[in-house]
Formats: sequence, structure tokens, C-alpha cells
Amino acid sequence: MTQTAPTESDRGKNKASTKSFEAMRKFAETYAKRTGTYFCVDPKITNAVIEGLAKHKDDLGAPLCPCRYYEDKQAEVENTYWNCPCVPMRERKECHCLLFLTEDNPFVGTQQELEVVAVDYDE
Ligand code: SF4
Repeated sequence: MTQTAPTESDRGKNKASTKSFEAMRKFAETYAKRTGTYFCVDPKITNAVIEGLAKHKDDLGAPLCPCRYYEDKQAEVENTYWNCPCVPMRERKECHCLLFLTEDNPFVGTQQELEVVAVDYDE
């Protein structure tokens, strides 16, 4: 079977495209360094949040925060408040997704570069 252009399933079921995942990974690494924040001690959390941001970028055209429920995702994208980095993060370094953690957070790790680990979304 021949492989066509990458699709959202090229990295596994319910995953973002490679292009968006890499874009969000680079964004997260750069933003962590710029803000003096660190990724979670559990890399599965970081991978899952980046995956969610990338999936929203594919589906909605913007990295809407993946850790919230929205009645209308497209309206939230246009509102911009929860487009990553969201307003609470930009103003107060508050990331409720545990993507960007300050040093006083009990879940903070030491990394500002992503350790890619498998996270399955098959269920
Ligand atoms: S809480 Fe804010 S900074 Fe953290 S992942 Fe969501 S949108 Fe991004």
C-alpha cells in the first residue's frame, strides 16, 4: 500500500499531524526557556498536552488549550483568551495543564526540551 501525504493518523489513532506536533514541540521548548519555566516531571503529561495543542492546531487552526471543555471551540479560538500561551500564563505564569511549570510547583521537572514518550489515544 502506498503512503500518501501525512494525515492526522500518520502518528497513530487520534493524533495530530507530525507537522503540527513538531511546531508545538518547538513552541513549547522555546517558550519554557523564555519564561524560565520547566516541563512536568512526568513526560507523559508534557507529551499529551503538546499532542492536544497540535490536534487543535490541525482541527481549528489555532492551539486552543486542550485541558478545558468548550461549548464552541471555534468561538473560543476567535476569542483568543485560551489560545496557547493563554492569558493566565502570559500574565501570571499559570498553566493549569502542567505544561509550563514554575520552580515552586510540586510537579516541576528539570527539562525544557521534550522527551518524546508514547501516549496512546486508542480507547
Ligand atoms: S493552560 Fe495556557 S499555557 Fe498551559 S497549555 Fe493551556 S493554553 Fe497553554
